[in-house]
Amino acid sequence: MSSAETIEKPIQKENRNMSSNNLLKGKKGIIVGVANKWSIAWAVAKACIREGAEIGFTYQGERVLRNLEKLFKEENLQEPYSINLDVTKDEELKNAGEEVKKQFGQVDFFLHAVAFAKHEELGGEFVNTSRDGYHLAQDVSSYSLVALAKAFKPAMEEKGGSIVALSYLGSERVVKNYNVMGVAKAALESSARYLAYDLGAKNIRVNVVSPGPIKTLSASGIADFSKMLEHFKNTAPLRKNVSAEEVADTCVFLFSDLSRAITGELLYVDCGYNTLAM
Ligand code: NAD
Repeated sequence: MSSAETIEKPIQKENRNMSSNNLLKGKKGIIVGVANKWSIAWAVAKACIREGAEIGFTYQGERVLRNLEKLFKEENLQEPYSINLDVTKDEELKNAGEEVKKQFGQVDFFLHAVAFAKHEELGGEFVNTSRDGYHLAQDVSSYSLVALAKAFKPAMEEKGGSIVALSYLGSERVVKNYNVMGVAKAALESSARYLAYDLGAKNIRVNVVSPGPIKTLSASGIADFSKMLEHFKNTAPLRKNVSAEEVADTCVFLFSDLSRAITGELLYVDCGYNTLAM
């Protein structure tokens, strides 16, 4: 083993095909939505760090905080700033906005990687969706983007910034079992366009990335998810599943100045699957 390999940090190892281009050097960002090491948000956080950004995290409750602390240790990260945030709680949103501004001053970007629906709503017939289940999915998975944009706006509006939310093709096509989450993602994508219009006046850009299916904690709640992965891999033009790291690199581009004239867009990172009519 060469000395270069022995000092290689885990973050560098995992992204060995991507060396840093310092695309986010000098930028500060907040990552909302890490639950564990499989979270897409964790891959995004690592890619942002690789590109030179200073990152803060929000976490949903003490259990997630313990997961985060373990991940920080594994990656040799000096305890980054993190704050408790349940996106359905207005007082926690307000507090997060104020605390983040105090801590960071200016925030250049944030990632919205948050979704939730009741297990029983992610299978069977959509016609049986309950009123409660519908509201809950909308609140956590869609309204939260509006609420977070409002909370972090004071920390972004001086210099401008970039917001990225994660959606899925089930927003515009019927994907078996995705059900109420598809409707929530449609609202999320539309909210991003309205936010892009409002916040554009402050040079804050808002875009949506739509990945293909990736095995994560949330995804495991969708009935027959492994069948989806298999179908996707055999059918997508690139004949493979998309990885969280590939999604993360697209988020880096959207957070960076390379995408400075792009806002209100929906960008698929799905190996071309969305282009198919079959
Ligand atoms: P994940 O389970 O790792 O992440 C979901 C996150 O949402 C968790 O960190 C959880 O703590 C957070 N969350 C849920 N309710 C919350 C609340 N009330 N307050 C604060 N946080 C809350 O799963 P993931 O697949 O990485 O999901 C991240 C995003 O990517 C989601 O928006 C998801 O819809 C989207 N996405 C996932 C896939 C996929 O196949 N995994 C595909 C396309 C889009």
